Amino acid sequence: MRRKFGVVGSGIVGLCMAHGLRKRGHDVTLYSDRTAEQWLNESTPTGGAGRFRDAIALERELGLSHWDDQVPRVGGVHLTMSLSAKNRVLTSTATIEGPGMAVDMRLQIHRWLADLEERGGKVVVGAVGVERLAAIARENDLTFVAVGRGPLCNLFPRDEARSVRTAPPRHLAMAIVKGVSMEVPGVPFLPVKFNISPEEGEAFWMPYLHKSGIATSALLVEARPGKGLDRFGGCRDGDEVVARMKALITERFPWEAAWVKNAELADPRGWLVGEVLPSVRGPVATLPTGETVLALGDTAVSMDPCAGQGANNGAKMVRSYLKSIDARGDAAFDAAWQREAFETFFRDEGERTYTFSDVLTQPMAKAGQNLLIAQYGSTGSGTSKEQKLANAIAENFVDPRRITHCFTDLAASNAFIEKTVGGSAKWHLFKKTLAIGQQQLRQAVGLQPRHP
Ligand SMILES: Cc1cc2nc3c(=O)[nH]c(=O)nc-3n(C[C@H](O)[C@H](O)[C@H](O)COP(=O)(O)OP(=O)(O)OC[C@H]3O[C@@H](n4cnc5c(N)ncnc54)[C@H](O)[C@@H]3O)c2cc1C
Repeated sequence: MRRKFGVVGSGIVGLCMAHGLRKRGHDVTLYSDRTAEQWLNESTPTGGAGRFRDAIALERELGLSHWDDQVPRVGGVHLTMSLSAKNRVLTSTATIEGPGMAVDMRLQIHRWLADLEERGGKVVVGAVGVERLAAIARENDLTFVAVGRGPLCNLFPRDEARSVRTAPPRHLAMAIVKGVSMEVPGVPFLPVKFNISPEEGEAFWMPYLHKSGIATSALLVEARPGKGLDRFGGCRDGDEVVARMKALITERFPWEAAWVKNAELADPRGWLVGEVLPSVRGPVATLPTGETVLALGDTAVSMDPCAGQGANNGAKMVRSYLKSIDARGDAAFDAAWQREAFETFFRDEGERTYTFSDVLTQPMAKAGQNLLIAQYGSTGSGTSKEQKLANAIAENFVDPRRITHCFTDLAASNAFIEKTVGGSAKWHLFKKTLAIGQQQLRQAVGLQPRHP
Protein backbone atom coordinates (compact mmCIF):
# COMPACT_ATOMS: atom_id res chain seq x y z
CA MET A 1 0.00 0.00 0.00
CA ARG A 2 1.31 3.45 -0.92
CA ARG A 3 1.62 5.58 2.19
CA LYS A 4 2.69 9.12 3.06
CA PHE A 5 5.84 9.91 5.00
CA GLY A 6 7.46 13.12 6.19
CA VAL A 7 11.16 13.31 7.01
CA VAL A 8 12.36 16.44 8.77
CA GLY A 9 16.11 16.97 8.36
CA SER A 10 18.43 16.61 5.38
CA GLY A 11 21.42 14.94 7.02
CA ILE A 12 22.65 11.69 5.50
CA VAL A 13 20.40 9.61 7.77
CA GLY A 14 17.19 11.50 6.97
CA LEU A 15 18.05 11.29 3.28
CA CYS A 16 18.73 7.54 3.38
CA MET A 17 15.35 7.05 5.03
CA ALA A 18 13.61 9.23 2.44
CA HIS A 19 15.24 7.27 -0.39
CA GLY A 20 14.43 3.93 1.25
CA LEU A 21 10.76 4.88 1.47
CA ARG A 22 10.68 6.26 -2.04
CA LYS A 23 12.24 3.08 -3.38
CA ARG A 24 9.32 1.18 -1.86
CA GLY A 25 6.93 3.41 -3.81
CA HIS A 26 5.71 5.55 -0.90
CA ASP A 27 5.05 9.30 -1.04
CA VAL A 28 7.89 11.12 0.68
CA THR A 29 8.40 14.76 1.58
CA LEU A 30 11.73 15.77 3.03
CA TYR A 31 12.03 19.05 4.94
CA SER A 32 15.44 20.70 4.93
CA ASP A 33 16.57 23.88 6.61
CA ARG A 34 18.83 24.56 3.61
CA THR A 35 19.04 24.05 -0.12
CA ALA A 36 21.29 21.58 -1.88
CA GLU A 37 23.52 24.49 -3.00
CA GLN A 38 23.78 25.74 0.58
CA TRP A 39 24.77 22.25 1.71
CA LEU A 40 27.54 22.12 -0.89
CA ASN A 41 28.88 25.65 -0.64
CA GLU A 42 27.91 27.15 2.71
CA SER A 43 27.92 24.29 5.20
CA THR A 44 30.22 22.57 7.61
CA PRO A 45 30.11 18.77 7.57
CA THR A 46 28.34 17.60 10.75
CA GLY A 47 31.02 14.92 11.11
CA GLY A 48 33.70 12.85 9.42
CA ALA A 49 31.17 10.15 8.63
CA GLY A 50 33.58 7.33 7.87
CA ARG A 51 31.28 4.49 6.92
CA PHE A 52 31.70 0.76 7.09
CA ARG A 53 30.34 -2.18 5.16
CA ASP A 54 26.69 -2.12 6.28
CA ALA A 55 26.11 1.60 5.75
CA ILE A 56 27.87 1.44 2.39
CA ALA A 57 25.72 -1.53 1.37
CA LEU A 58 22.55 0.41 2.23
CA GLU A 59 23.67 3.39 0.16
CA ARG A 60 24.46 1.05 -2.72
CA GLU A 61 21.06 -0.65 -2.51
CA LEU A 62 19.39 2.75 -2.58
CA GLY A 63 21.32 3.83 -5.68
CA LEU A 64 23.19 6.51 -3.77
CA SER A 65 26.84 5.48 -4.15
CA HIS A 66 27.95 7.82 -6.90
CA TRP A 67 31.58 8.15 -5.82
CA ASP A 68 32.79 4.54 -5.86
CA ASP A 69 35.43 5.18 -8.51
CA GLN A 70 36.92 8.20 -6.69
CA VAL A 71 36.71 7.46 -2.99
CA PRO A 72 39.82 6.12 -1.22
CA ARG A 73 39.10 2.63 0.07
CA VAL A 74 40.02 2.03 3.67
CA GLY A 75 41.30 -1.48 4.34
CA GLY A 76 41.66 -1.30 8.11
CA VAL A 77 43.31 0.41 11.01
CA HIS A 78 46.81 1.26 12.17
CA LEU A 79 46.98 2.11 15.83
CA THR A 80 49.76 3.39 18.04
CA MET A 81 49.21 3.53 21.78
CA SER A 82 51.63 5.76 23.64
CA LEU A 83 52.07 6.99 27.19
CA SER A 84 54.13 10.03 26.17
CA ALA A 85 56.05 11.45 23.21
CA LYS A 86 58.91 9.18 24.23
CA ASN A 87 57.00 6.04 25.06
CA ARG A 88 55.14 4.10 22.40
CA VAL A 89 53.67 1.09 24.18
CA LEU A 90 52.28 -0.92 21.30
CA THR A 91 50.98 -0.91 17.77
CA SER A 92 48.22 -2.75 15.96
CA THR A 93 47.61 -3.18 12.24
CA ALA A 94 44.23 -4.71 11.47
CA THR A 95 42.10 -5.30 8.43
CA ILE A 96 38.34 -4.99 8.15
CA GLU A 97 36.04 -6.79 5.79
CA GLY A 98 35.02 -3.84 3.84
CA PRO A 99 36.28 -1.57 2.59
CA GLY A 100 35.33 1.46 4.66
CA MET A 101 35.05 4.91 3.11
CA ALA A 102 34.34 8.53 3.87
CA VAL A 103 32.75 10.83 1.32
CA ASP A 104 32.24 14.50 2.18
CA MET A 105 28.63 14.54 3.36
CA ARG A 106 28.12 17.99 1.83
CA LEU A 107 28.73 16.42 -1.58
CA GLN A 108 26.48 13.49 -0.81
CA ILE A 109 23.61 15.55 0.53
CA HIS A 110 23.78 17.94 -2.42
CA ARG A 111 23.42 15.02 -4.82
CA TRP A 112 20.98 12.98 -2.74
CA LEU A 113 18.53 15.90 -2.49
CA ALA A 114 18.53 16.20 -6.28
CA ASP A 115 18.24 12.41 -6.62
CA LEU A 116 15.21 12.40 -4.33
CA GLU A 117 13.36 14.96 -6.43
CA GLU A 118 14.31 13.16 -9.64
CA ARG A 119 12.92 9.93 -8.19
CA GLY A 120 9.58 11.49 -7.32
CA GLY A 121 10.16 12.63 -3.74
CA LYS A 122 9.40 16.17 -2.65
CA VAL A 123 11.89 18.51 -0.97
CA VAL A 124 10.63 21.50 1.00
CA VAL A 125 13.20 24.06 2.13
CA GLY A 126 12.82 25.97 5.40
CA ALA A 127 13.53 25.29 9.07
CA VAL A 128 10.65 23.40 10.68
CA GLY A 129 9.34 24.57 14.07
CA VAL A 130 6.99 22.73 16.43
CA GLU A 131 3.78 24.10 14.92
CA ARG A 132 4.84 23.23 11.41
CA LEU A 133 5.93 19.82 12.63
CA ALA A 134 2.43 19.18 13.96
CA ALA A 135 0.96 20.10 10.58
CA ILE A 136 3.46 17.80 8.83
CA ALA A 137 2.57 14.96 11.22
CA ARG A 138 -1.13 15.46 10.44
CA GLU A 139 -0.49 15.37 6.68
CA ASN A 140 1.53 12.14 6.80
CA ASP A 141 0.97 8.58 7.96
CA LEU A 142 4.33 8.75 9.74
CA THR A 143 6.82 11.58 10.32
CA PHE A 144 10.48 11.11 11.18
CA VAL A 145 12.47 13.79 12.94
CA ALA A 146 16.08 13.54 11.78
CA VAL A 147 17.43 16.95 12.72
CA GLY A 148 20.66 15.66 14.23
CA ARG A 149 21.34 17.40 17.50
CA GLY A 150 19.41 20.53 16.46
CA PRO A 151 16.87 22.23 18.77
CA LEU A 152 13.93 20.04 17.68
CA CYS A 153 15.63 17.03 19.23
CA ASN A 154 14.69 18.47 22.63
CA LEU A 155 11.15 17.31 21.92
CA PHE A 156 12.46 13.85 22.72
CA PRO A 157 13.32 13.51 26.42
CA ARG A 158 16.80 12.20 27.17
CA ASP A 159 16.63 8.69 28.65
CA GLU A 160 19.02 9.21 31.56
CA ALA A 161 19.35 5.51 32.42
CA ARG A 162 20.26 4.49 28.88
CA SER A 163 22.37 7.57 28.19
CA VAL A 164 24.76 6.64 31.04
CA ARG A 165 26.94 9.79 30.95
CA THR A 166 26.03 13.22 32.21
CA ALA A 167 28.84 15.18 30.53
CA PRO A 168 30.56 15.04 27.13
CA PRO A 169 33.53 12.68 27.49
CA ARG A 170 35.67 14.52 24.93
CA HIS A 171 36.30 17.97 23.52
CA LEU A 172 36.45 17.56 19.75
CA ALA A 173 38.28 19.28 16.94
CA MET A 174 37.93 18.13 13.35
CA ALA A 175 39.60 19.46 10.21
CA ILE A 176 39.55 18.22 6.63
CA VAL A 177 43.14 18.55 5.49
CA LYS A 178 44.97 18.33 2.18
CA GLY A 179 48.71 17.99 1.61
CA VAL A 180 48.94 14.77 3.61
CA SER A 181 49.57 11.19 2.54
CA MET A 182 46.80 8.60 2.56
CA GLU A 183 49.34 5.88 3.25
CA VAL A 184 51.10 4.77 6.40
CA PRO A 185 54.59 3.35 5.74
CA GLY A 186 54.67 -0.41 6.13
CA VAL A 187 50.90 -0.81 6.16
CA PRO A 188 49.69 -2.82 3.16
CA PHE A 189 46.40 -0.88 2.72
CA LEU A 190 44.99 2.60 3.33
CA PRO A 191 44.22 2.68 7.07
CA VAL A 192 42.41 4.82 9.55
CA LYS A 193 45.35 5.97 11.66
CA PHE A 194 44.73 6.05 15.40
CA ASN A 195 47.02 7.53 18.01
CA ILE A 196 45.77 6.73 21.49
CA SER A 197 46.96 8.31 24.69
CA PRO A 198 45.16 6.57 27.55
CA GLU A 199 45.43 9.68 29.73
CA GLU A 200 44.77 12.43 27.20
CA GLY A 201 42.55 11.11 24.44
CA GLU A 202 43.00 10.30 20.77
CA ALA A 203 44.13 11.83 17.50
CA PHE A 204 43.05 9.99 14.39
CA TRP A 205 42.66 10.51 10.70
CA MET A 206 41.13 8.71 7.77
CA PRO A 207 41.22 9.03 3.99
CA TYR A 208 38.35 11.28 2.91
CA LEU A 209 36.95 12.23 -0.46
CA HIS A 210 36.58 16.00 -0.28
CA LYS A 211 33.68 17.70 -2.06
CA SER A 212 36.14 19.21 -4.56
CA GLY A 213 37.04 15.66 -5.67
CA ILE A 214 40.51 15.64 -4.13
CA ALA A 215 41.61 12.97 -1.68
CA THR A 216 42.14 14.49 1.76
CA SER A 217 42.12 13.30 5.35
CA ALA A 218 39.55 13.94 8.03
CA LEU A 219 41.67 14.65 11.09
CA LEU A 220 40.01 14.44 14.47
CA VAL A 221 41.37 15.18 17.93
CA GLU A 222 39.35 13.71 20.79
CA ALA A 223 40.61 15.40 23.94
CA ARG A 224 39.78 14.32 27.44
CA PRO A 225 38.57 17.58 28.98
CA GLY A 226 41.38 19.47 30.70
CA LYS A 227 44.13 17.09 29.54
CA GLY A 228 47.07 17.67 27.20
CA LEU A 229 45.18 17.33 23.90
CA ASP A 230 42.51 19.80 24.98
CA ARG A 231 43.81 22.82 23.08
CA PHE A 232 41.09 23.88 20.68
CA GLY A 233 38.73 25.93 22.84
CA GLY A 234 38.40 29.44 21.41
CA CYS A 235 39.60 28.55 17.90
CA ARG A 236 38.08 31.10 15.52
CA ASP A 237 38.76 29.53 12.15
CA GLY A 238 39.88 26.34 10.50
CA ASP A 239 43.41 27.55 9.82
CA GLU A 240 43.86 28.07 13.53
CA VAL A 241 42.53 24.56 14.22
CA VAL A 242 44.97 23.05 11.72
CA ALA A 243 47.89 25.10 13.09
CA ARG A 244 47.13 23.88 16.62
CA MET A 245 46.72 20.30 15.40
CA LYS A 246 50.11 20.43 13.69
CA ALA A 247 51.78 21.76 16.83
CA LEU A 248 50.03 19.20 19.01
CA ILE A 249 50.80 16.21 16.82
CA THR A 250 54.42 17.23 16.36
CA GLU A 251 54.87 17.64 20.10
CA ARG A 252 52.83 14.74 21.47
CA PHE A 253 53.02 12.19 18.64
CA PRO A 254 56.39 13.13 17.08
CA TRP A 255 56.49 9.96 14.93
CA GLU A 256 53.61 11.57 12.98
CA ALA A 257 55.38 14.94 12.52
CA ALA A 258 56.36 14.22 8.92
CA TRP A 259 52.81 13.17 8.09
CA VAL A 260 51.22 16.36 9.38
CA LYS A 261 53.95 18.81 8.31
CA ASN A 262 52.29 19.99 5.09
CA ALA A 263 48.67 19.70 6.23
CA GLU A 264 46.43 22.55 5.11
CA LEU A 265 42.74 23.14 5.56
CA ALA A 266 40.95 21.78 2.48
CA ASP A 267 38.23 24.46 2.46
CA PRO A 268 37.27 27.34 4.76
CA ARG A 269 34.25 25.46 6.20
CA GLY A 270 35.91 22.07 6.51
CA TRP A 271 36.36 22.12 10.28
CA LEU A 272 34.49 22.03 13.54
CA VAL A 273 35.13 22.30 17.24
CA GLY A 274 32.64 21.05 19.83
CA GLU A 275 31.51 18.15 21.94
CA VAL A 276 28.82 15.49 22.00
CA LEU A 277 26.87 14.57 25.10
CA PRO A 278 26.12 10.90 24.34
CA SER A 279 22.35 10.54 24.50
CA VAL A 280 19.65 7.99 23.92
CA ARG A 281 16.34 9.78 23.67
CA GLY A 282 12.80 8.63 24.25
CA PRO A 283 12.10 7.97 20.57
CA VAL A 284 8.51 9.15 20.33
CA ALA A 285 7.49 12.77 20.91
CA THR A 286 3.89 13.77 21.45
CA LEU A 287 3.34 17.29 20.11
CA PRO A 288 1.15 19.83 21.95
CA THR A 289 -1.66 19.11 19.49
CA GLY A 290 -1.48 15.36 20.11
CA GLU A 291 0.33 14.03 17.03
CA THR A 292 3.34 11.76 17.53
CA VAL A 293 6.62 11.79 15.61
CA LEU A 294 9.48 9.30 15.59
CA ALA A 295 13.17 10.21 16.14
CA LEU A 296 15.76 9.04 13.62
CA GLY A 297 19.56 9.19 13.43
CA ASP A 298 21.42 11.42 15.90
CA THR A 299 18.09 12.78 17.14
CA ALA A 300 17.36 9.34 18.60
CA VAL A 301 20.88 8.21 19.52
CA SER A 302 23.96 10.41 19.50
CA MET A 303 27.43 9.25 20.44
CA ASP A 304 30.89 10.63 20.84
CA PRO A 305 32.58 9.96 17.47
CA CYS A 306 35.63 8.13 18.89
CA ALA A 307 34.36 4.84 17.47
CA GLY A 308 33.03 6.36 14.23
CA GLN A 309 29.54 5.00 14.85
CA GLY A 310 26.99 7.84 14.43
CA ALA A 311 26.35 7.70 10.70
CA ASN A 312 26.84 3.92 10.65
CA ASN A 313 24.31 3.54 13.42
CA GLY A 314 21.95 5.86 11.54
CA ALA A 315 22.12 3.59 8.48
CA LYS A 316 21.35 0.55 10.63
CA MET A 317 18.41 2.39 12.17
CA VAL A 318 17.08 3.21 8.70
CA ARG A 319 17.28 -0.43 7.68
CA SER A 320 15.56 -1.58 10.85
CA TYR A 321 12.77 1.04 10.61
CA LEU A 322 12.18 0.15 6.96
CA LYS A 323 11.79 -3.49 7.90
CA SER A 324 9.26 -2.57 10.61
CA ILE A 325 7.38 -0.38 8.12
CA ASP A 326 7.28 -3.19 5.56
CA ALA A 327 5.92 -5.55 8.18
CA ARG A 328 3.20 -3.11 9.24
CA GLY A 329 1.21 -3.49 6.03
CA ASP A 330 -1.57 -0.91 5.98
CA ALA A 331 -2.10 -0.65 9.75
CA ALA A 332 -1.61 2.68 11.52
CA PHE A 333 1.85 3.78 12.69
CA ASP A 334 0.55 4.66 16.13
CA ALA A 335 2.69 5.66 19.12
CA ALA A 336 2.94 2.07 20.39
CA TRP A 337 4.18 0.88 16.98
CA GLN A 338 6.66 3.77 16.81
CA ARG A 339 8.06 2.90 20.22
CA GLU A 340 8.33 -0.76 19.29
CA ALA A 341 10.09 0.09 16.01
CA PHE A 342 12.78 1.92 17.97
CA GLU A 343 13.02 -0.79 20.64
CA THR A 344 13.49 -3.45 17.97
CA PHE A 345 16.38 -1.48 16.52
CA PHE A 346 17.90 -0.68 19.90
CA ARG A 347 17.67 -4.25 21.14
CA ASP A 348 19.09 -5.74 17.93
CA GLU A 349 21.92 -3.28 17.24
CA GLY A 350 21.76 0.18 18.78
CA GLU A 351 22.44 -0.73 22.37
CA ARG A 352 25.74 -2.49 21.72
CA THR A 353 26.86 0.24 19.34
CA TYR A 354 26.13 2.83 22.01
CA THR A 355 27.94 0.75 24.63
CA PHE A 356 30.99 0.28 22.39
CA SER A 357 31.27 4.03 21.79
CA ASP A 358 30.91 4.62 25.50
CA VAL A 359 33.51 2.01 26.44
CA LEU A 360 36.09 3.63 24.16
CA THR A 361 35.68 7.01 25.86
CA GLN A 362 36.29 5.55 29.33
CA PRO A 363 39.56 4.40 30.91
CA MET A 364 40.23 1.01 29.31
CA ALA A 365 39.32 -1.92 31.61
CA LYS A 366 41.81 -4.78 32.05
CA ALA A 367 39.66 -6.89 29.72
CA GLY A 368 40.15 -4.38 26.89
CA GLN A 369 43.82 -3.85 27.68
CA ASN A 370 44.36 -7.59 27.40
CA LEU A 371 42.79 -7.65 23.94
CA LEU A 372 45.24 -4.99 22.77
CA ILE A 373 48.20 -6.74 24.38
CA ALA A 374 47.16 -10.11 22.93
CA GLN A 375 47.07 -8.80 19.35
CA TYR A 376 50.56 -7.26 19.62
CA GLY A 377 52.60 -8.39 16.63
CA SER A 378 49.88 -7.88 14.03
CA THR A 379 51.17 -6.52 10.73
CA GLY A 380 48.02 -6.22 8.64
CA SER A 381 48.60 -9.37 6.63
CA GLY A 382 48.63 -13.13 7.09
CA THR A 383 46.63 -15.31 9.43
CA SER A 384 48.71 -15.35 12.59
CA LYS A 385 46.98 -15.52 15.97
CA GLU A 386 47.87 -11.88 16.57
CA GLN A 387 46.42 -10.90 13.23
CA LYS A 388 43.17 -12.72 13.90
CA LEU A 389 42.82 -10.91 17.22
CA ALA A 390 43.66 -7.53 15.71
CA ASN A 391 41.16 -8.07 12.91
CA ALA A 392 38.47 -9.10 15.38
CA ILE A 393 38.97 -5.87 17.32
CA ALA A 394 38.77 -3.80 14.12
CA GLU A 395 35.71 -5.75 12.93
CA ASN A 396 33.93 -4.74 16.10
CA PHE A 397 33.88 -1.19 14.75
CA VAL A 398 32.00 -2.53 11.72
CA ASP A 399 29.64 -4.60 13.85
CA PRO A 400 29.78 -3.77 17.57
CA ARG A 401 27.58 -6.78 18.36
CA ARG A 402 30.61 -9.01 17.99
CA ILE A 403 32.96 -8.51 20.94
CA THR A 404 31.93 -5.30 22.70
CA HIS A 405 31.40 -7.29 25.90
CA CYS A 406 35.02 -8.51 25.76
CA PHE A 407 36.24 -4.94 26.35
CA THR A 408 34.79 -4.90 29.87
CA ASP A 409 34.28 -8.52 30.91
CA LEU A 410 37.61 -10.13 31.83
CA ALA A 411 36.32 -13.69 31.65
CA ALA A 412 34.84 -13.06 28.21
CA SER A 413 38.05 -11.37 27.05
CA ASN A 414 40.17 -14.31 28.23
CA ALA A 415 37.80 -16.81 26.65
CA PHE A 416 37.90 -14.91 23.37
CA ILE A 417 41.70 -14.75 23.38
CA GLU A 418 41.88 -18.44 24.23
CA LYS A 419 39.50 -19.42 21.45
CA THR A 420 41.32 -17.28 18.88
CA VAL A 421 44.89 -18.32 19.73
CA GLY A 422 43.90 -21.93 20.36
CA GLY A 423 45.66 -22.16 23.73
CA SER A 424 46.09 -20.59 27.15
CA ALA A 425 45.24 -16.87 27.27
CA LYS A 426 47.53 -16.43 30.28
CA TRP A 427 50.53 -17.88 28.48
CA HIS A 428 49.82 -15.89 25.31
CA LEU A 429 49.48 -12.66 27.31
CA PHE A 430 52.69 -13.42 29.20
CA LYS A 431 54.65 -13.76 25.94
CA LYS A 432 53.12 -10.59 24.52
CA THR A 433 53.83 -8.64 27.71
CA LEU A 434 57.47 -9.71 27.44
CA ALA A 435 57.64 -8.58 23.81
CA ILE A 436 56.13 -5.20 24.72
CA GLY A 437 58.51 -4.96 27.69
CA GLN A 438 61.51 -5.38 25.37
CA GLN A 439 60.45 -2.30 23.43
CA GLN A 440 59.94 -0.43 26.70
CA LEU A 441 63.53 -1.23 27.61
CA ARG A 442 64.80 0.07 24.28
CA GLN A 443 62.99 3.35 24.82
CA ALA A 444 64.19 3.59 28.42
CA VAL A 445 67.78 3.68 27.14
CA GLY A 446 66.96 6.25 24.44
CA LEU A 447 66.51 3.91 21.44
CA GLN A 448 63.55 3.91 19.06
CA PRO A 449 61.06 1.05 19.59
CA ARG A 450 60.91 -1.69 16.98
CA HIS A 451 57.18 -2.22 16.92
CA PRO A 452 55.76 -4.17 14.00
C1 LIG B 1 33.73 15.32 14.68
C2 LIG B 1 32.78 14.22 14.28
C3 LIG B 1 33.23 13.14 13.54
C4 LIG B 1 32.37 12.10 13.20
N1 LIG B 1 32.84 11.02 12.52
C5 LIG B 1 32.02 9.99 12.23
C6 LIG B 1 32.50 8.82 11.53
O1 LIG B 1 33.67 8.73 11.16
N2 LIG B 1 31.61 7.82 11.27
C7 LIG B 1 30.30 7.91 11.65
O2 LIG B 1 29.54 6.97 11.37
N3 LIG B 1 29.82 8.99 12.30
C8 LIG B 1 30.64 10.02 12.59
N4 LIG B 1 30.16 11.11 13.24
C9 LIG B 1 28.71 11.18 13.55
C10 LIG B 1 27.92 11.55 12.30
O3 LIG B 1 28.44 12.71 11.70
C11 LIG B 1 26.47 11.73 12.67
O4 LIG B 1 26.03 10.62 13.39
C12 LIG B 1 25.59 11.89 11.43
O5 LIG B 1 25.99 12.98 10.67
C13 LIG B 1 24.15 12.06 11.89
O6 LIG B 1 23.35 12.26 10.76
P1 LIG B 1 21.88 12.80 10.91
O7 LIG B 1 21.33 12.79 9.54
O8 LIG B 1 21.18 12.06 11.99
O9 LIG B 1 22.02 14.29 11.46
P2 LIG B 1 22.82 15.55 10.90
O10 LIG B 1 23.99 15.16 10.11
O11 LIG B 1 23.06 16.42 12.08
O12 LIG B 1 21.78 16.26 9.93
C14 LIG B 1 20.57 16.81 10.36
C15 LIG B 1 20.27 18.00 9.47
O13 LIG B 1 18.90 18.36 9.58
C16 LIG B 1 18.76 19.73 9.25
N5 LIG B 1 17.89 20.35 10.26
C17 LIG B 1 18.16 20.58 11.56
N6 LIG B 1 17.12 21.18 12.16
C18 LIG B 1 16.16 21.31 11.22
C19 LIG B 1 14.85 21.85 11.23
N7 LIG B 1 14.31 22.35 12.35
N8 LIG B 1 14.14 21.87 10.09
C20 LIG B 1 14.66 21.35 8.93
N9 LIG B 1 15.90 20.83 8.87
C21 LIG B 1 16.64 20.80 10.00
C22 LIG B 1 20.14 20.35 9.28
O14 LIG B 1 20.53 20.64 7.95
C23 LIG B 1 21.01 19.27 9.90
O15 LIG B 1 22.30 19.28 9.42
C24 LIG B 1 31.01 12.16 13.59
C25 LIG B 1 30.53 13.26 14.32
C26 LIG B 1 31.41 14.27 14.67
C27 LIG B 1 30.89 15.43 15.48
